[in-house]
Amino acid sequence: MKKRILLIIALIMIITTTLRTVAITYSFLNFSNTVIQNENNFKKSIFLNSKPQDYNKLINIINNSSHIKNIAILKTYKNLKTIYDKKDKTIISYIKLNKKNIIKITYDAKEYYEKLFIALIKLITIGLISLVIIILTVNYYLNPYLEIFENINKSTKKIFKGKFDQQISTKLKGEAKDFVNSYNYFLNKLKESFGVIENKYTTLIEKEKSSDPLNDAKETIEQLSEIFKFKRLIEEDLNIESVLNRLINVIKNQGINNFILIGIDSNKKEIIYEKTEEEECCDVKENFLLCRAYRTKNEINSLKYPGICQRHFCENNYICIPFSNSGNFNGILKIMINNENEKNSIKNMLPFLKAYLNEISSILESKYTLELLHQQTIKDPLTGLFNRRYLENTLPILIASANRENKKLGFLMIDIDHFKQVNDTYGHKSGDITLEKLSEILKKSIRKSDIAVRYGGEEFLIILQNIKSIDDAKKVAEKIKNTMEKTEIELDNGKSIIKTVSIGISIYPDQCKKGWECIKLADIALYEAKNTGRNKVVLFNKEIKEYQNYISS
Ligand code: GH3
Ligand code: MG
Ligand code: MG
Repeated sequence: MKKRILLIIALIMIITTTLRTVAITYSFLNFSNTVIQNENNFKKSIFLNSKPQDYNKLINIINNSSHIKNIAILKTYKNLKTIYDKKDKTIISYIKLNKKNIIKITYDAKEYYEKLFIALIKLITIGLISLVIIILTVNYYLNPYLEIFENINKSTKKIFKGKFDQQISTKLKGEAKDFVNSYNYFLNKLKESFGVIENKYTTLIEKEKSSDPLNDAKETIEQLSEIFKFKRLIEEDLNIESVLNRLINVIKNQGINNFILIGIDSNKKEIIYEKTEEEECCDVKENFLLCRAYRTKNEINSLKYPGICQRHFCENNYICIPFSNSGNFNGILKIMINNENEKNSIKNMLPFLKAYLNEISSILESKYTLELLHQQTIKDPLTGLFNRRYLENTLPILIASANRENKKLGFLMIDIDHFKQVNDTYGHKSGDITLEKLSEILKKSIRKSDIAVRYGGEEFLIILQNIKSIDDAKKVAEKIKNTMEKTEIELDNGKSIIKTVSIGISIYPDQCKKGWECIKLADIALYEAKNTGRNKVVLFNKEIKEYQNYISS
């Protein structure tokens, strides 16, 4: 900066001095009128005044000017030009005095050139001296200011690299000193505040430092604000399924389209949520207990450690990120990386994704624990089926929805035949095993939208939603009955038994107008099944004797 300014000043001076020198030299050498004009103007004014005393002045000039050899007044009107007379070694110049007279001045050429030479030397010397004076002045007065600019320039470059631990100094006083102090104060503030911000965000997002930490901070804070908004959103979600579905949107929005996301109940050791996009490349869903990420709770990254997971059978790279809060819920996100582009983008947003998973894992945990608690209040602990409390709350909702959608409901009342014998012969534990087995069969025989309730000790109620006809209900009941009679129940004493069930069916709204009425009619049909031989399915009809007793009572 400083050097550049000095160089420019020096150049301007050198150029102007050179130009002046060249111009003077040129005009002398070409005998142009321009140089001698000044001198002649003076002489001309003397003649024009035409006063006798002025002639004396003219004589004086001739006497004192060694380079003027002669002056003569001619009565010619011709416009003569200045010439160089080689023979006489003189320069002859003509100046028009008035309409009639011309003054002719004859110079001694040698003297003339000597005079010119001295003038040039003087000019160059003055030019050089003034150049030196200017350089020294600039150096003395301007240098400290230029130093400040230079230091600020260097310091700004350091700021861009995230180095705030620096100060600038100056010998100057007054406003320049105040300016430097303010700048140093600003640097200190920047160091303090950015240091705190950097410390905080690096604990939240483990990002590698780049050459532009200010931009890093900006990006990270933007990402943290996204995570914060996401957290606020999912806090109000109903269950973990909704939360995980939202997470999937975030993952896809990051451009990741080849992944598996699973949620595991780590106490029950079962998968409670799973979403697969594109190819799986491993049997994590079947064998999650063997999954390295699940076992070690560490990130498994084939980009860092090629071939680390021996259960991954595809050629591509992968990153498996476990996320949990050491509670009931464990999540694993496995991302498959198929090409270089994906590799680069994944590297960039991996810290962000990990921060996301880290932040939401506590919400997932609390939501899942709440879900479990809720399940406990609505489910039977032995069979895992819904309890009567759940039925009481749900029945009006099911009826309302069937009315709204103009659909039928099938009520199946199921009771194990001669169940007492199991308890009596093999013990209560064997009775429980039989109940569990029947519950499994029930769960497998119905759709997700259907509801299976442990209605009493060994009585079960199934409510089939959206059935098209009575036959649909009959088919499900027959399937349950047939499966049960073919199933060998292995007891804890090593023996196995076969038990049968009787099933009574009623249909809403064909046969009953209220939920509890339908259950009663299904129970009456079940009674009929028991009375007419057991191991059978009976559809309610008004001819059943028990019904006649019921309406007459
Ligand atoms: P039926 O064919 O007429 O139904 O004969 P049943 O022997 O099955 O008779 P009932 O349905 O009246 O039997 C109910 C028995 O179920 C009584 C009780 O000992 C048994 N029970 C009820 N709850 C449980 C339970 O949680 N565990 C076990 N092991 N037994 C239960
Ligand atoms: Mg019973
Ligand atoms: Mg029974």
